[in-house]
Amino acid sequence: MNYLVLSLQKEERKKLQLHLLNENYATWRMCGFAIAVFQVLMLIGNLCSDSVSRKVIYYRWHYILLIAATLVAELLLYVFKRQEQMVTQFYLVMWGYVLALFIWAIGITYVGFASNEDLSTFAYVTITTCAIVLIEPWRIILVLSISTACLGVILFSNPALEADFGTIIQMMSIFALAVVVSIIAYNRRLNRVRLEYEHMDDLEEIRELNVKLQNDAVMDALTGLYNRRYLTAHIDEPLNTGVYPSGLMMIDIDSFKRINDTCGHQMGDECLTLMGNLIRDIMDDHSGYAVRYGGEEFLLFFNRISEYKVIMTAQKLQSILGKTPMKREGHEFFLTVSIGYALAREGMSYTDLIGVADENLYQAKAHGRDMIWPRCSA
Ligand code: GH3
Ligand code: MG
Ligand code: MG
Repeated sequence: MNYLVLSLQKEERKKLQLHLLNENYATWRMCGFAIAVFQVLMLIGNLCSDSVSRKVIYYRWHYILLIAATLVAELLLYVFKRQEQMVTQFYLVMWGYVLALFIWAIGITYVGFASNEDLSTFAYVTITTCAIVLIEPWRIILVLSISTACLGVILFSNPALEADFGTIIQMMSIFALAVVVSIIAYNRRLNRVRLEYEHMDDLEEIRELNVKLQNDAVMDALTGLYNRRYLTAHIDEPLNTGVYPSGLMMIDIDSFKRINDTCGHQMGDECLTLMGNLIRDIMDDHSGYAVRYGGEEFLLFFNRISEYKVIMTAQKLQSILGKTPMKREGHEFFLTVSIGYALAREGMSYTDLIGVADENLYQAKAHGRDMIWPRCSA
């Protein structure tokens, strides 16, 4: 499509081509709309005219034709723009429309000229087109040369029009101005598109980094669970209170301070990491999320769950911990946890639910640790 596109690898070329196409489409949409509105206004003026001379009828059809061509072009451009593989068709329609515009300008200028009007329609159509299309100037120059030559032939082949040297000067001036406008507009817009394109990767990187930062901000690095900031963001959400209500499990590692004191903080951290892994495995089977609530305290929130399922899940965790020895300098020990759980009832808030689970956890600790509270007989 142009030297910038051709200098790139296939994949990148495709990306930039779509970028250019979007840029072109955005401009065309705006201009197409403006052209259609302008022509509709001219048509209304024409229809309101008392005269039914040939010229008025001729103009009327010109307006109708341009409105129709604009609408068809807009429709086709819209369809082709949506299909990534239809880039060629998109540009063909664009070129077709440019051509139609120039032919239209020649036709209307010819009739106007016969009524002693000047070349202003030809001037504004060609110069405006050169300003808005993102097509290489040499192509525009080619089309301009052909259309200016056609206009010249038409005007000079009819002696009644009295085209003279002044007409040639006017046509050459319009041509020169259109070329200058085309070169300036093309280079400016291409530079902007190029800059945007070159920053596209940076933008993508920043976007990815942003997502990562947002994720990191709510994650606990040691356990891979969410942190309290995440909990705070969800604390106002309504709770399910149906047959399978929202459920909450508060888990606290027993005598964790002693593990730290006797085996060292590194061992303590390993215990926390293990807990994080086990809890993430548990949550894989449930809808909800888990949070590291404090040092060695965890909250497991279940969107919908039965009491039976909560107890089964808690017992499963206890059982796995009972089979997972923590090894340290020749001797080994097993982690135990106390668990308090709560199920949402009508009228309960999230904070209420945490409060009940906390109270139950306290009871589990008070009754000797390594247990689930409310106590179950199973
Ligand atoms: P209880 O059975 O009553 O829960 O007793 P506990 O020792 O587990 O509870 P306590 O609140 O007395 O001690 C918690 C300890 O957890 C104290 C703190 O040093 C330790 N801790 C908190 N965060 C971390 C951490 O990130 N890494 C390690 N290694 N220790 C931590
Ligand atoms: Mg503890
Ligand atoms: Mg604690």
